[in-house]
Amino acid sequence: ATEEQESVTTRRLRFSFEFFPPKSEDMADQLWKTVEALSLWTPDFVSVTYGAGGTTREPTLSTVKRLISETALPTASHLTCVGATKDEVRQVVEQFRSVGVKHFVALRGDPQGGMGSAYQPYPGGYSNAAELVAGLREMGGFEISVSAYPEKHPESPDVAADIDMLKRKVDNGACRALTQFFFDNDVFERYLERVRAAGISVPIVPGIMPIQNLTQLKRFASMCGATIPGFLDDRFAGLDDQPKARAEVAAAVAAEQIEDLARRGISDFHLYTMNRSALVTATLGNLGLRPRALADDGAGAAA
Ligand code: FAD
Repeated sequence: ATEEQESVTTRRLRFSFEFFPPKSEDMADQLWKTVEALSLWTPDFVSVTYGAGGTTREPTLSTVKRLISETALPTASHLTCVGATKDEVRQVVEQFRSVGVKHFVALRGDPQGGMGSAYQPYPGGYSNAAELVAGLREMGGFEISVSAYPEKHPESPDVAADIDMLKRKVDNGACRALTQFFFDNDVFERYLERVRAAGISVPIVPGIMPIQNLTQLKRFASMCGATIPGFLDDRFAGLDDQPKARAEVAAAVAAEQIEDLARRGISDFHLYTMNRSALVTATLGNLGLRPRALADDGAGAAA
């Protein structure tokens, strides 16, 4: 990008990075190397996912605790309410508050039978994310982000029902929505127009998924209702045995998507890192950005 292009597209971009709690020593090493590498980009915040039904409460808690105590990164914890009473959720929230969490990404969570099975509200629990947001607001003192689904949530009858739910979450206190990943920016733009027409004015931050493996992503995407456009098959065609070329294509695709969204006026992006730094670093590098911590001229990611 030329200097001029940079000033209109990439200079004022802000990024958040999503991690998941590691399940083994090796995965923990991988995560902390990734955190170190990505810290250089001075993200707006980082977030750590939370297993539905409390399955990763301890790993999530210890991960956010370490991020808060050992790094300067503003840290959000995801929180789900599936399979828990309101009282249990409150205890979890207070535990997270005690290690310094001030920002939650509040989610309902997938049904306990896994994605695809019918969601059953838990007796004495919150029945959806909007109720959880209201509960968190009552507990007080938290910034609250929520999810949004440009291609609708698989359980929603239509996009309108999804936007109704988003409105309820925002009315109850959410100040930002992070979207499910998507690859068609036109779909996102149409969704955003409908969200704004519904009177929702909080930032809707696109979720960007740099593609580590297209075949695996297709499996996952079909479960969460995200479409994989045909152009991605073309971009990755013939690269199955060429990991280096695949990574270059993946970083180019993600950077092109961000650049196009930036041209459409978007300035905040949530990157699904899968606990790996290389693709994220290459994506941001392709945008002509330099890690702020290394930039001499102060024109880094968060400038
Ligand atoms: P809600 O906002 O409550 O509902 C989502 C949509 O589903 C609504 O728009 C609504 O229209 C529809 N809907 C909900 N209930 C019903 C119903 N009973 N009948 C018909 N329609 C219904 N999951 C985790 O387990 N841990 C995480 O850390 C996590 N992080 C995520 C982060 C992001 C940015 C996103 C986008 C998703 C994340 N998820 C996570 C996945 C999420 O938990 C699932 O998609 C879950 O199924 C819905 O949770 P929600 O908060 O989006 O639900």
